[in-house]
Amino acid sequence: MCGVFGIFHHPEAANLTYLGLHALQHRGQESGGVVSSDDGTLHAVRKMGLVGDIFDRRKLKLLPGSIAIGHVRYTTAGGSLPKNVQPLTAESRHGAVAIAHNGNLVNAEKIRDRLEDEGAIFTSNSDTEVFLQLLARSRGATLDDRLQDVLGAVRGAYSIVMLLRDRIIAARDPHGFRPLILGRMPGYEGCYVVASETCAFDLIGAERIRDIAPGEIIIISDEGVRTVQGPAAPQRSCVFEHVYFARPDSVLDGKSVYELRVRMGERLAAEAPCDADVVIPVPDSGVVASMGYARAAGLPFEMGLIRNHYVGRTFIEPKDSIRHFGVKLKLNPVPGLLAGKRVVVVDDSIVRGTTSRKIVKMIRSAGAREVHVRISSPPVTWPCYYGIDTPTRKELIASSHTPEEIARYITADSLEYLSPEGLMTSVGGASGFCTACFTGEYPVRFVAPTSRRQLRLVEV
Ligand code: AMP
Repeated sequence: MCGVFGIFHHPEAANLTYLGLHALQHRGQESGGVVSSDDGTLHAVRKMGLVGDIFDRRKLKLLPGSIAIGHVRYTTAGGSLPKNVQPLTAESRHGAVAIAHNGNLVNAEKIRDRLEDEGAIFTSNSDTEVFLQLLARSRGATLDDRLQDVLGAVRGAYSIVMLLRDRIIAARDPHGFRPLILGRMPGYEGCYVVASETCAFDLIGAERIRDIAPGEIIIISDEGVRTVQGPAAPQRSCVFEHVYFARPDSVLDGKSVYELRVRMGERLAAEAPCDADVVIPVPDSGVVASMGYARAAGLPFEMGLIRNHYVGRTFIEPKDSIRHFGVKLKLNPVPGLLAGKRVVVVDDSIVRGTTSRKIVKMIRSAGAREVHVRISSPPVTWPCYYGIDTPTRKELIASSHTPEEIARYITADSLEYLSPEGLMTSVGGASGFCTACFTGEYPVRFVAPTSRRQLRLVEV
């Protein structure tokens, strides 16, 4: 769960990257950074925190040059530490290089063990550093050969943007787990952008050209955009991006996230109707699907819960204690609106079940007569190894409990999920998606990490 951005050949490269990162902030709130290239010298500003807190006018002035890449991070591998803040940078005999990565490599530890046995030293414990080490060590004669070497060795999920002296490389893993889109800036000859989501293009006035294809490596330079085909495999884009993670105003693999979420809600209404007086969403994650549900069910839609936008997403905080406190901090029912009503509350997913339990109690204490929970995706029963932060299988409530048991736990009068077929119909067919979190069918085998890492520095 991270956001990546890159821009080639624009006089305000760092400023636009900074804006792009703002639009991608929902993909990661722990840290962020921008690296620019000015005539081959790389300049970096990276820090823990939100984009708006990391950068100011002075910091952005430290990032000259017409090429830049950026990253917002939410830890899925390597720990939430300053040394893991991206883009990572390194010097090699081929020049300085920076990389921003979204996704998780499944064989990073194995590669790292091998490289360490050969004498390599790593400065972070992020799986992303493996790309830099492999690139620096590649014996390939040309850049294309070296990229093929690196991407031939890594397995798992990656959408990466790399900055070299005078070019940007963007690549998506052979299955295309995580999104990555190519765009251009109208009015700026030779100016190209890449981003995790199109909402970053909208903010800076860029136009989407197309999604980078699974297995595709794109090299953007003064010669324009050139494609090198990397390893190929059947497409397996993450379906959970459409369910929860991406912003609804984004278009992923040519599909509007908003439209697909509406369809999930409509389909849920058909599969799991409810005798009720009002439909309310869990904001923001359930808003679009609940509108689809209400419309299809012919029930009134109300914003029964109001979200405080000035606290971060509660789940996103790695510590359990903070998350428990977070729900109340984040949501509050509108007084009087739910009193005496039979309420359908729609959310996108249940992970541990703690959020839903608190929300149901909150709605009931606002006077609701009945509380029916509808979830616009199937039960999450398997952890994700490809870059979405999910807890271990044991902590996923649906891995060990039936919907009836979960309904009792969250104290709902009823609980129903969208069926797997319903989800796949809503997103336009079963092929082309990774559904491992719902089905346990993992497209790439996960190699359990060893635990010999000892460097746990906390810098201040
Ligand atoms: P839980 O209390 O663990 O059941 O949290 C469920 C809530 O977390 C739902 O409202 C989802 O919108 C949200 N959610 C689902 N998956 C994730 C994720 N990977 N990261 C952050 N939030 C999530």
